Amino acid sequence: MAQITNLMGAMVLEKPATELVYKKVAIPVAGQGQVQIKVTACGICRTDLHIIDGELAYPLQPLIPGHEIVGIVSAIGAGVTAFNIGDTVGVAWLGFTCGRCRYCLNGQENLCDNARFTGYTLNGGFAEYTVADERFCFAIPSLYANAQGAPLLCAGLIGYRSYCMVPELAVNIGIYGFGAAAHIVIQLARHQYKQVFAFTRPGDDISQKFALQLGAVWAGDSTQRPPEKMDAAIIFAPVGQLVPQALLHLGKGGMVICGGIYMSDIPSFPYKLLWQERSIKSVANLTRADGRSFLAVAPTVPIHTHITTYPLQKANEAIYRLRQGGIEGAAVLVM
Ligand SMILES: [Zn+2]
Ligand SMILES: [Zn+2]
Repeated sequence: MAQITNLMGAMVLEKPATELVYKKVAIPVAGQGQVQIKVTACGICRTDLHIIDGELAYPLQPLIPGHEIVGIVSAIGAGVTAFNIGDTVGVAWLGFTCGRCRYCLNGQENLCDNARFTGYTLNGGFAEYTVADERFCFAIPSLYANAQGAPLLCAGLIGYRSYCMVPELAVNIGIYGFGAAAHIVIQLARHQYKQVFAFTRPGDDISQKFALQLGAVWAGDSTQRPPEKMDAAIIFAPVGQLVPQALLHLGKGGMVICGGIYMSDIPSFPYKLLWQERSIKSVANLTRADGRSFLAVAPTVPIHTHITTYPLQKANEAIYRLRQGGIEGAAVLVM
């Protein structure tokens, strides 16, 4: 009897608010305009935790999560022109945009009305293979054609988009939540001679030490006052309370940038915290232009990612560690 060989291992979310389950599922076939990718590594992002916990509505069910994918093109579908078999590619959160809505037409495809997202409304990279629309794949510089490259695809990209919102003349930048995104953003900021203040959960000495090693001029608890007023604060931690806390330490005209897809409610605060042209902004998704621009900049810094790797089948353990805050830098699944 012929052996069935068209199966792959995958970590599947059968329904929200359950653990991932290791399953053998059919290897996806590249359709029109798609590439099939043999996944080398896939990072675990905080957004994956929000999806798994059911905090984001309407995920694909069942779902293969994962949107920080580095892999090698193993097959190409009809009409593919940008990539060949053997190319190293990256796949990020933005998996499809319509190209027709007012946002797409205005160069704001990150806000597309009909967007689809990798590892959320499209299957992602917690698997041995995945398929992706070639128009939404990135060529990966050789320096990052490995597990180190995976966190660049979301932590790096969303971090970069958040960092690009910082007013150009800003000198003092606060970062709240010192995880995967922050450890990349600080390298960009230091490269441009900015001063970074790193805020962590109270008592998280490990993350504070890590921030100082990466060049933060000050690291402390999120409840503490930084040594100087800040020109901008980027919040990566999903904690709404941090918004008024950050506003309190901003200079005039300063900006709070919320870099996460999910945040607990922001408590009310006195208007005087916002007065004098302080502002609050959120960052949603990414554009392909962000991706190309960041992947061109990263090797020139050069950005080094700090990762802890886990085999695919240990995804639940990695997720548990990530929740506890015990991972320095980023957690990455390797296949
Ligand atoms: Zn659109
Ligand atoms: Zn992400």
